[in-house]
Amino acid sequence: MASSIQQLYRQVTGDVLSSKDADYDQIRRGWDLTIDHYPKVILVPHDAADIAAGVRFAHESGLAVAVQSTGHGMLYPADDNLLIVTSRMTSIQVDAEARTALVEAGTTWQQVLDTATPHSLAPLLGSSPHVGVVGYMLGGGIGWLARRYGFGSDSLRQIDIVTADGVLRHASPSENSELFWGLRGGGGNFGVVVAMEFDLYPVPALYGGSLVYPEQTAGEALRFYRDWIRTVPDELTSSIAIVSFPSLPQVPEAFRGKTLVLVVAAFAGPAVEGEPWMRPWLDWQAPIDNSLREMPFSEIGTITNDPVDPVAEYGSSDMFDDLSDDAIDAIVRLATDSASPLTLNVLRHAGGAIAGAPADASAIGNRDASLYLLIGGAVPDSAALATVKAYIQRYRAALQPYVRGGVWMNFMNGNGDGARERVTEAYLPEAQGRLAALKAKYDPDNMFRFSYQLTGLGTQEGSTVGEGRVKPSA
Ligand SMILES: Cc1cc2nc3c(=O)[nH]c(=O)nc-3n(C[C@H](O)[C@H](O)[C@H](O)COP(=O)(O)OP(=O)(O)OC[C@H]3O[C@@H](n4cnc5c(N)ncnc54)[C@H](O)[C@@H]3O)c2cc1C
Repeated sequence: MASSIQQLYRQVTGDVLSSKDADYDQIRRGWDLTIDHYPKVILVPHDAADIAAGVRFAHESGLAVAVQSTGHGMLYPADDNLLIVTSRMTSIQVDAEARTALVEAGTTWQQVLDTATPHSLAPLLGSSPHVGVVGYMLGGGIGWLARRYGFGSDSLRQIDIVTADGVLRHASPSENSELFWGLRGGGGNFGVVVAMEFDLYPVPALYGGSLVYPEQTAGEALRFYRDWIRTVPDELTSSIAIVSFPSLPQVPEAFRGKTLVLVVAAFAGPAVEGEPWMRPWLDWQAPIDNSLREMPFSEIGTITNDPVDPVAEYGSSDMFDDLSDDAIDAIVRLATDSASPLTLNVLRHAGGAIAGAPADASAIGNRDASLYLLIGGAVPDSAALATVKAYIQRYRAALQPYVRGGVWMNFMNGNGDGARERVTEAYLPEAQGRLAALKAKYDPDNMFRFSYQLTGLGTQEGSTVGEGRVKPSA
């Protein structure tokens, strides 16, 4: 092995590290602190040729390959295998006339915002600009423009990828089109993405922010939210959250140590068009805090101010077709229980352009879900992890009569067990067969095994897709 590592070192222009190197600890760590992995070899590639050399090296050495950009979405540790860290491949080209961006594998959404928004163009990023473009897109990608323009991956035009045989391939609607279909939702299963090109949209400004209400209003607020989202246009993407804020100095004093209800929204347009849609909330009840404002698209990250520094969190997700009063009561009871270790209980509104595309437009399933729930808590140590896991299991079991089944894999980050158990819920039955066939074709030895488990999909008995009920595992 030592000699082949030396050989890899000579073949690439990027860096090759083992545990003996000073930078090893810093580079192996990603944003999600629950994944503390010790790869045998780390490759920090400079270009596609380096990636291809790394994949061939792994093949010859019998190593599996994990890919890390920012480390926001890792599911399993890459212990004793090859970790390819793409964070130095960040070149980006925006074509303002064609309204496209072409980015390398390690680019973050912040870098796309910095380059695209001076042209009044917006990408389909999610809540955090610090997430990596490629990992987000491979999992589908759903953000504040989702109801207007669809999944982030719906905006993809072409992808370059090094597959398990070490070959650089091009995937687009006209070339390797089946691979292109599978890459939009199938995760990092088919190889190492080198670059992606996607559409940008003419959204120079947003009207967005949050309205904050006291914990006691939670039941009434969720009912109001359920009725209100039936009236709003596709330009408006929103969520309602029950959040338990920690008593930390960085939390605004008015929120510190409190459980509060947040209505968070983004309207894809100026205040004059967005404000009327939010007015029903102000008429309903005066909020404790109101941060709604018109903002340049470049400030989209301020809508939720997701944590930038690494955290250890564990979470899960569910989906609803509609919210009955009983479902709302169950959510409020679980979210506001004084014994709850969860910090976040978020219901996000889907539909719009997500549901408007054909069900088989890409690999990603559940386009017809109306609402999705994200729940999670901080897990600084193994005792906290056990407590949060157990609570989430109880939570999901209590919601079982109301959920429709289904999950989007981007929301299983940090929850490898759940991702393994629930992968069949993420894809339609026909898509499962197509994904398994793609996996067998492009990665027959499951070299890329640190993403969602697609091998053998579509052949298992008891698929839960479309059956409307999920097993209450976290
Ligand atoms: C704070 C936070 C906010 C989020 N908000 C949203 C949101 O609003 N909407 C949404 O849809 N998702 C959201 N996510 C989920 C996020 O999109 C996924 O976790 C995504 O996988 C992160 O991608 P990454 O590249 O940053 O992370 P990484 O951990 O670096 O990568 C995640 C996985 O993507 C794959 N991957 C990454 N790069 C490559 C590559 N070059 N080739 C092949 N495979 C690759 C690998 O399987 C890797 O394990 C959020 C996550 C966090 C932590």
